[in-house]
Amino acid sequence: MLKGKTAIVTGSTSGIGLGIARALAADGADILLNGFGDGPEIDQLRDAMAVQYGVKVAYCGADMTKAADIERMVETANHAFGKIDIVVNNAGIQHVAPVQDFPLERWDAVIAINLTAPFLITRAVLPQMLARDWGRIINIASVHGQVASVDKSAYVASKHGIMGFTKAVALETATTGVTCNAICPGWVLTPLVQQQIDALATREQLSNEDASVKLLGDKQPSQTFASPEQLGALTVYLCSDAACNMRGVGLPVDGGWLAQ
Ligand code: NAD
Repeated sequence: MLKGKTAIVTGSTSGIGLGIARALAADGADILLNGFGDGPEIDQLRDAMAVQYGVKVAYCGADMTKAADIERMVETANHAFGKIDIVVNNAGIQHVAPVQDFPLERWDAVIAINLTAPFLITRAVLPQMLARDWGRIINIASVHGQVASVDKSAYVASKHGIMGFTKAVALETATTGVTCNAICPGWVLTPLVQQQIDALATREQLSNEDASVKLLGDKQPSQTFASPEQLGALTVYLCSDAACNMRGVGLPVDGGWLAQ
């Protein structure tokens, strides 16, 4: 379905972004990977994906806190593929602390990566998408784009912000072939969440397994983690023609979190 299309997936060297990049590549899209990590390992990942899926795979290590890096990433994708059809704004970070102890530097970093980077990328790619009258902008928000949890003020603010941004872009492009939507995962077992499991295990002297059960139990009625593969499949769906009239929505994949 996506043969001939090209996609940037930010934060795709691990976790959800990698699952989404794999799903888009499996469907035929050329992919620009982005994110941090070990250079040789990323080279290996890029080469393996290109062989496995028979698509072009490029990489740019742009730091999503830096506007100049984001510009360079968009240029790299344009240079590698000649155009950009799909952007998945996935890179994101978390910091957990009560508001009164929340360091400004961490607040700024969370807002920069989770909210400002998607704005900068969208602003850069939208003109060419509108010129071809086809494009997909998919923002990986969170259940925290709809509801809050304690000690996550910057993250919750950034994810509510990205939901608002998603709706605004969807309205501005509503009469065109460009759509903008969001996906709102609940708990997904990735390095970002493993850090929170580790912290809980240390704090409450639990095993890794017991801490995982406790983390899910508080919030996610299915008692199972959502997976990067499930989020990849939903992303592919949002890129399909069937989804061309879905605009400005936030689709939960949350094991029932938001149903409570
Ligand atoms: P992760 O930590 O596994 O991966 C994050 C990716 O972003 C990595 O590739 C990392 O290298 C990259 N990254 C981090 N800082 C970056 C920067 N400054 N510039 C460029 N790349 C950077 O995280 P994840 O759990 O896969 O999360 C991905 C997205 O999904 C985030 O937006 C997160 O908020 C969202 N999300 C995750 C969960 C979950 O349970 N894991 C739930 C809801 C939403």
